[in-house]
Amino acid sequence: MSLEIENRRAAVVAELPGRKLDALIVGNGANLRYLTGFTGSSPPAWIGWWPDGALFFTDPRYTIQSKQEVSCRVRVSKGPLLPAIVKEAGRRKLRRIGFERSRITYDGYDFLRSNLPARSSPEPVAGLVEQRRMVKSESEIAAIRKSVETNSRAFEQAVAHVKPGVRENDLAAELEYRMRRLGAEKPSFETLVAGGVRSALPHAQPTSARLDAGSLVIVDMGAMQDGYASDMTRMLFIGRPGAKVKHTYRAVLEAQLAALAAVRPGISAGAVDRAARSVLKAHGLDKAFVHSTGHGLGLEIHEPPRLGKRDKTRLQKGMAITIEPGVYLEGFGGIRIEDTVIVTETGCEVLTPTSKELRVIEG
Ligand code: ZN
Ligand code: ZN
Repeated sequence: MSLEIENRRAAVVAELPGRKLDALIVGNGANLRYLTGFTGSSPPAWIGWWPDGALFFTDPRYTIQSKQEVSCRVRVSKGPLLPAIVKEAGRRKLRRIGFERSRITYDGYDFLRSNLPARSSPEPVAGLVEQRRMVKSESEIAAIRKSVETNSRAFEQAVAHVKPGVRENDLAAELEYRMRRLGAEKPSFETLVAGGVRSALPHAQPTSARLDAGSLVIVDMGAMQDGYASDMTRMLFIGRPGAKVKHTYRAVLEAQLAALAAVRPGISAGAVDRAARSVLKAHGLDKAFVHSTGHGLGLEIHEPPRLGKRDKTRLQKGMAITIEPGVYLEGFGGIRIEDTVIVTETGCEVLTPTSKELRVIEG
């Protein structure tokens, strides 16, 4: 693993001259983990500079952990980290210093601007590390696969015990408990369980409401295991589903399968989204599909690429993405079906093993 991490650092630093940068400061947790192996949650920082320098800054609470995990030189600094980085940049006469424009705070930027030596300048950088993270290595794909399996097993274990009348909160807690018992560090996002008309809220939080007969229930869950995320949405129905539920479910499933069939290297993310959207349009449901078809995932639950109507990113072998069309009808409910998939040489591999049949739960 540490060789893989060293190669990532070398690749990022090698991109600096082309962007007219001497150095890059990274403070985002997922980017840091990607570049150094550090798994801690407190924000340390890393600076890499052309041609071959790299320093990891942290505070004394992480001396031991960074010694165990980080594969480049570590500088333990007692005070805040940005002043230490600025000092180092001055000492090494680094001029154009990149920072992650969407990750740094305004205070952080302000500090850099007013404290870097006169001949140095902070330069906003977008997505340099994130672009590299889109295509996963074999070891990363193995980690995502494990996370997906844990997530699906937790779903099966928890759903096997669901009875009509269970509360949304209780089912969400059970799903997360099972997940942890099966090896996850935590959920990759707050588990979503919403029944009845509330299922039409794409990001509803679980409540104390009971899932009674006649409820359509959306379950959206993911595990974080060995640092890697999984993401899955499945639908339950409490009692016997009527014709509208069945018809709408079929339409969403057809859209999901169409999007999966479209995934292959070279296709644009937007074209995959359109594949799902056109199926829903044929069913008169396209206006009820209010989000994009999917997103990348890995060290974070939402990563590039985004699979929206106008996204031009070409899919590449090794990308990990979700495919999750859904329809949301006010007063009726919402239906979404989501898998985690890997783009392969010829198409994609659906990692999620859970059945996509509507899960009917009767008494
Ligand atoms: Zn999801
Ligand atoms: Zn998702």
